[in-house]
Amino acid sequence: MEQKDIVREIHHAFKFYHALGVESVPIEVLEQLNSIVGKEKSSADIPIPDLPDSCPAPGDETLKEKQLFELRATIGDCHRCGLAAKRTHLVFGAGNPCAKVMFIGEGPGRDEDLQGQPFVGAAGELLTKIIMAMGLKRREVYIANVVKCRPPGNRDPEPDEVETCIEFLKKQIEIIAPGVIIALGRVAAQSIFETDEKIGSLRGKFRQFHGIPVMPTYHPAYLLRYPRAKETVWKDVQQVMAMLGVKEK
Ligand code: SF4
Repeated sequence: MEQKDIVREIHHAFKFYHALGVESVPIEVLEQLNSIVGKEKSSADIPIPDLPDSCPAPGDETLKEKQLFELRATIGDCHRCGLAAKRTHLVFGAGNPCAKVMFIGEGPGRDEDLQGQPFVGAAGELLTKIIMAMGLKRREVYIANVVKCRPPGNRDPEPDEVETCIEFLKKQIEIIAPGVIIALGRVAAQSIFETDEKIGSLRGKFRQFHGIPVMPTYHPAYLLRYPRAKETVWKDVQQVMAMLGVKEK
């Protein structure tokens, strides 16, 4: 690797850590790197990458929106598992039906249950920063969960709850047909791959789900508790960006 490429790699890594609020990243070093690579001064202005269009044909987006709408209608006021009893809102998922990148978490938390939207609490804010650090906007990706209703007290969903609800997620994946999936945390990764392997051994390695590459990594809520793991997540995310051929403008 040439020296300028090494400097660029360090620059990207520092921007990511800084965007995620890692305060040990010295801003003066970041600014020096910015000037060396001839980039912008602010870590907030992360350039938008070139992503291939996942809805190339006219009408694709409308069709996918319609299919997602019909799926939501099929789920209805779902009481297929016990999680319905204490939910405020069923959290279907949100984002771009033509998303190239799909994020999958385990289930709604308190804020998500109250608002009916995925990843809107503190962990959601961190996920938004990760998305931005990838050079994307939140509205360009799709975000969903393994279970659509909040497990009481934020406990893990039970196996029978996952088994009942994951069919809806599979249908969402089939409709959106993303280029890559990022599975956030142990429950998401284990549920998708039907394994009891630990997230520590699952993360960082692509696997396939119905022909779609899936990168498991740590859940943003885990990063809030263990900020040191942000570096590991960045490595996983970099693999996704490389696989998509994401290039900064
Ligand atoms: S978690 Fe899924 S299966 Fe259970 S009630 Fe909610 S939508 Fe239905």
